Amino acid sequence: MSDRLQDGCIFCMIIKGEIPSFTIYEDDATKAFMDINPLTPGHTLVIPKFHTANIFEAPADSLGQVMTTVGKVSRAVDRVIAPEGINILQANGAGAGQSVFHIHFHVIPRAVDDGFTMNWPQVPGNMDDIGKTAKALQDDISKHE
Ligand code: 5GP
Ligand code: ZN
Repeated sequence: MSDRLQDGCIFCMIIKGEIPSFTIYEDDATKAFMDINPLTPGHTLVIPKFHTANIFEAPADSLGQVMTTVGKVSRAVDRVIAPEGINILQANGAGAGQSVFHIHFHVIPRAVDDGFTMNWPQVPGNMDDIGKTAKALQDDISKHE
């Protein structure tokens, strides 16, 4: 296990127990603990128990294991906090707001009037452009998967 952790990574230090955490669940592959800067009460993070930076690098089987734990944690947060909704948020790269470069999924309880938004306007796209991008992505996936 320790050979799959990275020195200096804050979440690897949490896995090793070198930094304390409010852990609410763990299994062989994943760990869930409270975010110490919660957006709302109940804000939890779910990580794989080995170092991988982001969604581009994470092996498919570990993403499956992490999502299973995200589901478990979300159901607990829903029962215990009883929010009006829950966002699952996951950032890849600085441009997306990632600040800890060990992949993690945020489980964030939400309320209709909590004031937090990702409110991009719904402006209809150009169908030619959307179609061209879709084709490029289809081709890329069939080459790489
Ligand atoms: P990101 O910005 O990368 O999507 O999210 C990183 C999250 O990790 C932030 O919400 C931040 O509050 C949380 N975080 C950073 N350092 C620690 C820590 O030492 N312990 C815990 N529990 N959370 C942390
Ligand atoms: Zn790490």
